[in-house]
Amino acid sequence: MLKNKNPLRREQIELLPKVELHVHLDCCLSFGVVSRLKPGITREEYAGDFVGRPKYKDLADFLKIIDHSLELMQTKESLGLVAEDLFQQFKKDNVIYAEIRFAPFLHLRQGLSPSDVVGTVEESVSRCVKETGIEARIILCTLRHYTKEQSMTTVKLAGQFSGTRVAALDLSADEAGFPIDAHIAAFQYARKKGIYCTAHAGEAKGPGSIRETLEYFKPSRIGHGVRCIEDPLLMDELKRKRIHLEVCPSCNVRIGIFNTYADHPIDRLFNSGISLGINTDGRAITDISLTDEYERLQNTFGWGLEHFRTCNQNALQAAFLPGETKAALQEKLC
Ligand SMILES: [Zn+2]
Repeated sequence: MLKNKNPLRREQIELLPKVELHVHLDCCLSFGVVSRLKPGITREEYAGDFVGRPKYKDLADFLKIIDHSLELMQTKESLGLVAEDLFQQFKKDNVIYAEIRFAPFLHLRQGLSPSDVVGTVEESVSRCVKETGIEARIILCTLRHYTKEQSMTTVKLAGQFSGTRVAALDLSADEAGFPIDAHIAAFQYARKKGIYCTAHAGEAKGPGSIRETLEYFKPSRIGHGVRCIEDPLLMDELKRKRIHLEVCPSCNVRIGIFNTYADHPIDRLFNSGISLGINTDGRAITDISLTDEYERLQNTFGWGLEHFRTCNQNALQAAFLPGETKAALQEKLC
């Protein structure tokens, strides 16, 4: 295996300016914020309910753990605290730009409306951007098992909040368990209204899932997409169409798509010239920071500064941002 002759020290990796496009708000609760929302919780209970196990049977099995976090994210105050907590984690990793995603319908258990949820998170994120200097946008997720109506309401919320930090629509959750049919209309609506799009595909299912996502949703990015490695023609298509892959290596290993980190195709995908970036997916449920993830890439594949720079440049180019904001952030990426 390729080894880097001049490996970066952890402090150097920590200081690298980073872009993270794929991170779920409800998958990142630190012990600190959980202790505030659930006083008295022990480290062991936190590890069991919010961090989870190193390996899961599949994506559907993995998704069950998120309910513990959702239980604590049902009020304006708690949503605000969770957003602040995530920005503190970005700060430690020197993230300069992040896109935070969540599904508004998952936060209605105590009487908030979908619009309350989006408004609250948007306000909190805007406040955190001002306080930390970390630029950010918000992606609203519809979920695979949702109805056409729920998907339409989600995309219309994105439209209603246009001009704020809400920028895009995503399709998330159980890729293998539910088809895309109910969500095609929402993605058509997004395109018509100029709302950016990404969608989870090629994680729990193979190349066929990526192909249908490209055909029916026409997104500029794919969440994961790593199983395109099984289909060289699809890899060519992704390159030709300049589709960016939001890659989350540790999360893929955790849900059993690849047995070990060394089996992950990120290095082969990078070398093929496909545009990709590095993401955590969920910092708590994957038990990883972005710095940890870069360190693993260095230790496993011999990645170094040039790889990290290319990934961050690619991610910034694919960000759901206007050109002038991208240009300003470009100055910060070394
Ligand atoms: Zn995800």
